[in-house]
Amino acid sequence: MSPVYELAAVSARIRGATLLDGVSLSVTAGETVAIVGPNGAGKSTLMRLLSGDLVPTSGTVRLKGHAITDYRAADLAANRAVLSQHVQVSFPFMVAEVVGMGGGRQPRAEVEPLVAAALAEAELDGFAARELPTLSGGEQQRTHFARVLVQLACGEADHGAGALLLDEPTASLDMRHQINLLESAKRRALQGTAVIAVLHDLNLAARFADRILVVRKGRLVADGAPATIITDDLLQRVFEVEARVGTTPGGLPFVLPQQMARTATAIAAARH
Ligand code: ADP
Ligand code: MG
Repeated sequence: MSPVYELAAVSARIRGATLLDGVSLSVTAGETVAIVGPNGAGKSTLMRLLSGDLVPTSGTVRLKGHAITDYRAADLAANRAVLSQHVQVSFPFMVAEVVGMGGGRQPRAEVEPLVAAALAEAELDGFAARELPTLSGGEQQRTHFARVLVQLACGEADHGAGALLLDEPTASLDMRHQINLLESAKRRALQGTAVIAVLHDLNLAARFADRILVVRKGRLVADGAPATIITDDLLQRVFEVEARVGTTPGGLPFVLPQQMARTATAIAAARH
């Protein structure tokens, strides 16, 4: 199967600062990939390169076999759906209108059932007529996720399985909605969508993803199955915490915050 994404030696520099340096990777249809790494590591930059919002300074990003820079905006929207880390909507749109925006220029009659399904999936029944700014942070995040689901459904109906890109989609969500959202994303992967999500919670990442990418200081420093990636050594080297990684009876790694301590380097850095 040909990859959905192929990145070859991709770098992003802005005014002398290197945000991402020489990243190569490929993602196939149906994979669930989590991107983890400390604040400022370059995770959102990588997501913006995957989404085509940011053009690499060097290297190439290919989406479904074509250079991402060759896509027209409408084709890009039909082949990959993106939930950005920060979405600002200050105009008082209704929830159903925002979710419907995922349908772009598709006929209303086709989009409406998708909006209803996405609202139900994001557990937003009853919110359709509410103005977005009146919703809680988590409810707004779920609204944007529902919008992205509509976009993905419209695009995949015409162009086949594409990519779903989620940048910290669970940041404002309670536990149940975190799991709900990631299960929704996982269902898309089972239907062939390549799902790539930035997650801070390593336990959620281990549960959700087939594969974890670790980004540190603009470089891709590890790429593999959760059990091989989430180790004591990773916590120490990349996240600067001392902790013992446990294993569930099902073989998944887990980390308990109760057992975490900052490393000596992290303590020294905090003093400066
Ligand atoms: P994160 O891993 O937290 O998502 P980002 O990809 O957003 O990190 O940012 C990576 C680094 O690049 C950060 O240190 C950030 O401050 C820096 N950065 C992002 N955008 C710019 C910009 N336009 N100009 C300069 N530095 C930037
Ligand atoms: Mg980010």
